Amino acid sequence: MFRIYSMKRIAAAALSAVLTICCVALLQVERAKTVSGDYIKWVDFTPTTSVLRQALDIDIQSHDSDTPVSWIELLAYAACKNGGKFTSGKDKYITQLYERIQNAEDIQTITADMKYYNYYYEAYSAVLSGYVGYNDDGEYGVLVYSPFAAGYYYSHYDDFGASRSYGYKRKHLGHDMMGSVGTPIVAVEGGRIEALGWNQYGGWRVGIRSNDGRRYYYYAHLRKNKPFAEGLKEGDTVKAGQLIGYLGMTGYSSKENVNNINTPHLHFGIQLIFDESQKDGVNQIWIDCYQIICFLEKYRAKI
Ligand SMILES: [Zn+2]
Repeated sequence: MFRIYSMKRIAAAALSAVLTICCVALLQVERAKTVSGDYIKWVDFTPTTSVLRQALDIDIQSHDSDTPVSWIELLAYAACKNGGKFTSGKDKYITQLYERIQNAEDIQTITADMKYYNYYYEAYSAVLSGYVGYNDDGEYGVLVYSPFAAGYYYSHYDDFGASRSYGYKRKHLGHDMMGSVGTPIVAVEGGRIEALGWNQYGGWRVGIRSNDGRRYYYYAHLRKNKPFAEGLKEGDTVKAGQLIGYLGMTGYSSKENVNNINTPHLHFGIQLIFDESQKDGVNQIWIDCYQIICFLEKYRAKI
């Protein structure tokens, strides 16, 4: 009896020691990452809709060829060449890279001496990596949707960074899409529902983390009384194009279910997370998603 008891104790002690060592090791890795700060701290997402489309067309067209190139590689290369200043037409560097790839040069050699290539590649991957791939039917193409369901009208302009004064003076870190109360809002990309409920600023809101963890989509000011799709809750997994809620005008109130927004609209935001320390607090990265919303206009989910 004593022997069994003591062996159990030894086993338990050994297990606890192993766990402690693992935890300490993990903590040290986490701390090293945080202290060394070896992750991206800021991203200005500047590719225009026309350039996104130009790069995407090449990606899809070259996908099954002998010289495939991803739109993220094309965009990162162009950003290195143009300093992140994209125009509203086509970008000559995107064409240039594709020609080089077609002439049997490889991307690693081409970009080896480009100082900022890895930065742009990682930054743009964080924004776009869930956008293109194989759908359920095995076809390669665009997998994301506009947040507005098919057949619903909205108006918008680039209001990222505009001044806001409710609560405290701050910048607008998202994109407003004006529309009618009750418009079905769908998930742009699939992922896990990380937040669902009332927020003083956003009113009834849903926050969805992409499956790779690098994007957090924020949908706010949803409808009073019935803001969310039936049965939706935190922790649920949603697919791109799935109904998540309805446009409304809630928010700007510490009291729940209050319409304090003057113009009905969806506030849509995209946050990038390279390190978990950037999710909350003062080091958040929100990108200007006006061009992305314009890009998504073509992809509307039928509800
Ligand atoms: Zn807004």
